[in-house]
Amino acid sequence: MVYATNLGYPRIGPKRELKKALEAYWRGRATSAELLETARTLRKGNWELQHQLDLQHIPSNDFSLYDHVLDTIAMVGAVPRRYRWKGDRVDLDTYFAMARGVQSGVTGSEAVPAMDMTKWFDTNYHYIVPEFEPDQAFKLASTKAVDEFLEAKSLGIHTRPVLLGPVSFLLLGKSASVEFSPLTLLGQLLPVYAEILRQLAAAGANWVQLDEPCLVLDQGPRERQAYIVAYQQLGAVSPDLHILLATYFGDLGDNLETACKLNIDALHVDLLRAPGQLEPVLANLPEHLTLSLGVVDGRNVWRNDLSQALAQIKSAMQQLGSERIMVGPSCSLLFSPIDLDQETKLDEELRSWLAFARQKLEEIMLLTKAANQGVSSVQDSFEASRKAIAARRASSRIHNQVVKQRVADISPALLSRSTPHAERKRLQQEKLKLPLLPTTTIGSFPQTREVRKMRATFKKGAINGQEYEAFLKEEIRKTVRFQEDIGLDVLVHGEFERTDMVEYFGTQLEGFAFTTFGWVQSYGSRCVRPPIIYGDVSRPHPMTVEWAQYAQSLTDKPMKGMLTGPVTILQWSFVRDDQPRSETCNQIALAIRDEVADLERAGIQIIQIDEPAIREGLPLRQNGRQAYLTWAVNAFRLAASGVADTTQIHSHMCYSEINDIIESVGAFDADVIFIEASRSKMELLDAFRQYQYPNDIGPGVYDIHSPRVPSEDEVFGLLQRALGVLRSDQVWVNPDCGLKTRRWEEVEPSLTAMVAAARRVRASITAD
Ligand code: GLN
Ligand code: ZN
Repeated sequence: MVYATNLGYPRIGPKRELKKALEAYWRGRATSAELLETARTLRKGNWELQHQLDLQHIPSNDFSLYDHVLDTIAMVGAVPRRYRWKGDRVDLDTYFAMARGVQSGVTGSEAVPAMDMTKWFDTNYHYIVPEFEPDQAFKLASTKAVDEFLEAKSLGIHTRPVLLGPVSFLLLGKSASVEFSPLTLLGQLLPVYAEILRQLAAAGANWVQLDEPCLVLDQGPRERQAYIVAYQQLGAVSPDLHILLATYFGDLGDNLETACKLNIDALHVDLLRAPGQLEPVLANLPEHLTLSLGVVDGRNVWRNDLSQALAQIKSAMQQLGSERIMVGPSCSLLFSPIDLDQETKLDEELRSWLAFARQKLEEIMLLTKAANQGVSSVQDSFEASRKAIAARRASSRIHNQVVKQRVADISPALLSRSTPHAERKRLQQEKLKLPLLPTTTIGSFPQTREVRKMRATFKKGAINGQEYEAFLKEEIRKTVRFQEDIGLDVLVHGEFERTDMVEYFGTQLEGFAFTTFGWVQSYGSRCVRPPIIYGDVSRPHPMTVEWAQYAQSLTDKPMKGMLTGPVTILQWSFVRDDQPRSETCNQIALAIRDEVADLERAGIQIIQIDEPAIREGLPLRQNGRQAYLTWAVNAFRLAASGVADTTQIHSHMCYSEINDIIESVGAFDADVIFIEASRSKMELLDAFRQYQYPNDIGPGVYDIHSPRVPSEDEVFGLLQRALGVLRSDQVWVNPDCGLKTRRWEEVEPSLTAMVAAARRVRASITAD
């Protein structure tokens, strides 16, 4: 018999219950008991759903109050010293302190910054980056995995606990002080993993899922040896506990040999990202291993091509027999929206093309049944799947000849500004007359409860369009005044009309569809609702011009027009799977290019095109990266270079690991680029020691992911560090990212400190 399995289910809840509970708790409006109760209810719902569907391997410990890497940090007691954690168990406050930092005064404690956060592989999910010391000690400090296994057990549901594997855990971390390789800590770490496995076995678990996604990356001999050593030990912990080692997001490739040598019982492979690996995996899989086939896409929303997936399953069955096969999603379903059945506003045609997490579980069950009992047992469902896929391919809604032609006609001339940056800079400065180290923000200002409430009221129809517009204009007016009062040099309108920087554009473009409840977790309580790009993209009308123009009319200072770049719109959407990503990206770039031209025509002198997602689209392995960077950079340039020399193009990327793509950042040829830098204390600027970044750059001077307010001295210090690497006429001063998730009470003192620090640095430079 072939077994149905799942690797993980969304945690946030069908109506974002977890988000609401977390935020209420953080604001002191709910007790920890209330928060934990919500969490328990969500877990119960997920387990019961999978149990009712009859999945044989149901995950547990896939739930998290914030992030599963942070859970692992807690599990092994790797709490950085600055959180002053003592004791046996990592408590809730310490847990959230690591995630969000601690603000001084709130609980009489001193301020402590949050741990670093970065993207989980090439997804838009962020994890907390483990920090390791050379003398790092580990101890079992959270039994969450066991507790949740027992919790499910008490509901009568037998689960397979999920843990992040020890090797990937170390590889995803960074050394806190001196440079050393976290892998050297493997020997100290393994006993803690062994202990938790022993406890799981004692609690009655017979399978455990260890995720080692780093096995799809380029790994050297040291890493490979680490997997062997780790699983040698963990595989020997208990004869009753079987290990499924899960890989996903790519091809095992040259790590296949290593994977096949591990002392494990089952191996999961991603056949969506890497269908080609089925053959070599089947050819090399040792006889004692079960193969878990990831055939349902955990990363996208399209309905499964059941016949095609069944063909893969059948070829595996032919070689391995049916007892050694599991059928599951390509990766955890964490990256999918939860339930298509909630989407009552989507039209029938579109709905028939889609499957969300819950529907994907159903697909897994259908495939398993077809494998075990023959297709005839699920004939109708297979027929429906076949029809839906054929209908989608032929639908007139996805093809637009004009757009296809425009993309075919893209010439090199469309990809470059006509004058080099140095000359543009002079012309722009003549017009803008900015001081040294100009201050600005990344775009959004707090999306307060009031803003969200008014939006909801408008959507419900309780206020009309004019009333809503008047409200937004008032918010913009106040925000412009605020920025003038604080003394910022380049202003923004605040983005109050946007729920999300991609959704806002997608709703105005052709070829995009939107969901009502299609939320996926981005970090902690923060969720995004990615659009679904299903067809050729075009722009029927200007999208931002009126707001920008209105905002500019309120001030003599330069007002930035704010756009989201093509790569980011692509990356943060669910993308059609019937043409190359680069093709879709170029279509979006042309739409943004038209918007840039309209903004310029409306008198906007500075236009920011955000590309926060450029790096996360980078292929996980070295080969393939250059090709991606070439088309991604060209798409940005296509969007940005249709302007006069005097128009200043800004861009922003919100991650700190740019070292490996630094030259592509330069190739953007944006006049100014803003990059997240404060969490890494300007470490990222090291990249600029070797590479002379030619244009202007604003390394972020404070972290906006945390409510903590930076001091003027702290910002001053960071700016000094930046000036150690960059020219003073090249540096801008700005936060790490947009301020939408922050509160005005935090924004005001933070920006005040920032402006004061910038002035102090200016004064010290002019005094020299
Ligand atoms: N302009 C956007 C904002 O300020 C940029 C957000 C981002 O980079 N993620 O919110
Ligand atoms: Zn950002």
